[in-house]
Amino acid sequence: MVNFQKLKNIILSNNTFLLTTHVNPDADAIGSEIAFYQILKALGKKAYIINHSETPYNLKFLDTDNVIRQFNLDDYADYFNQVDVIVALDFNRSDRTVSMQKNFERAKAIKICIDHHQDPEKFVDYEFIDTDYSATGEILLSLITETKLVQLTKEIAEPIYAAIMTDTGSFRFERTTAKLHRKVATLLETGVNPTEIYDKIYDQSKFSKIKLLGRALESIQLSANGRIAYMIITQKDFDEFGAIESDTENFVNYNLSIENVVLGLLFIELKNVFKVSFRSKGNIPVNKLAAEFGGGGHTNASGARFFDRNMTSEIINQILSRAVSYIK
Ligand code: 5GP
Ligand code: MN
Repeated sequence: MVNFQKLKNIILSNNTFLLTTHVNPDADAIGSEIAFYQILKALGKKAYIINHSETPYNLKFLDTDNVIRQFNLDDYADYFNQVDVIVALDFNRSDRTVSMQKNFERAKAIKICIDHHQDPEKFVDYEFIDTDYSATGEILLSLITETKLVQLTKEIAEPIYAAIMTDTGSFRFERTTAKLHRKVATLLETGVNPTEIYDKIYDQSKFSKIKLLGRALESIQLSANGRIAYMIITQKDFDEFGAIESDTENFVNYNLSIENVVLGLLFIELKNVFKVSFRSKGNIPVNKLAAEFGGGGHTNASGARFFDRNMTSEIINQILSRAVSYIK
C-alpha cells in the first residue's frame, strides 16, 4: 500500500527535486519522470531529471520540455547535494543507477522511491512501493486522483499513458484489470491519443533495429523439450547493423510467442556488459532466476547484468541449466 498522503506532504513541503530512473530506461521509466516533472512544474517546484542512460530515440517525444540530462560527474555530481529531494522512479536498488550510484548513495537529500518492482533494497528514506500496480506511472496517476495534488492535464496524462501502455504489453499482461482500464479512461479524457502514442513508441523503428530483430529471431533455439526458448545477440550483430542496446527492447517476448514455450531468455553481448533478459508465462518466477545471477525484476519479466564477465557459451549454459529447474 502506498501512503499517498505522506508522498503529497513530502512534495508540498520541499522545493527542489532531482528525478532519476534505471539504466536502459523504458517508457515507464521516462514517462514516470516526465509525469512527475509536470506535476512539480504545475506546483511551481524546481525539478531536474538526470539519468545514467541516454533517452532511447523513440521515447524522446515524451520529454516535451527537453529537460532530461545524461549524467556525467563534472556537470551533474553537485545536483545530488543541492536538491531537497531525490526521487528514484521505477527501480528499487541503487546499483540500477550505474555511474550515479555513489552520488545517489552519498547525497544528503531526502531520498524517496516510487516503484512497482519486487524485493526492494533498503536504499531510500521513504518508500512508495506497491507491486500490485501495473506501472510506476499508474502510481503517479493514483497520487493525483487520491490526493487531488494537481489537475490531471494532458501534459501529465500522456507520459502516464505511455508508461502504462508499455508496462502492460499494450494492455494484455496480468495486471490489466477493469479497474486499470477505468483509470486509463481518465487519461484519454484529457485528450491523449492512443494511436499516436503507440505509433511513436513502437512503429517508428530505425531500419537497423528491424535488421537486428531478424538476426535475433534467426538465433532462437529451444531447450527443455520446447519449454524454453532463447536468443543470442552479439556485439558483432550490433556493429553490423549499427544498432544500439535500446533497439532490443521487447525482442525477448518473441520467445514466448512460440507454442509450448513458457520461459524465454535473451542473451545480449554489449561493449562493457553482458546482459540477460528473462520472461515467463504463468507463475514461473524469473525474478528469482535473475536474482541467482545478481539481477531482479518482476515474476514474469526480469533481467541481470554482468559487468565483470564476457558472454561465453559456458555462462549461457550455466544460466540455461538453472532456467530448466524453474519449469519443473
Ligand atoms: P529487461 O529485460 O526489459 O531489461 O528488464 C525486465 C525487468 O527486469 C525490468 O522490470 C527491470 O526492472 C528488471 N531488470 C532488468 N535488468 C535488471 C538488473 O540488472 N537488475 C535488476 N535488479 N533488475 C533488472
Ligand atoms: Mn515499470
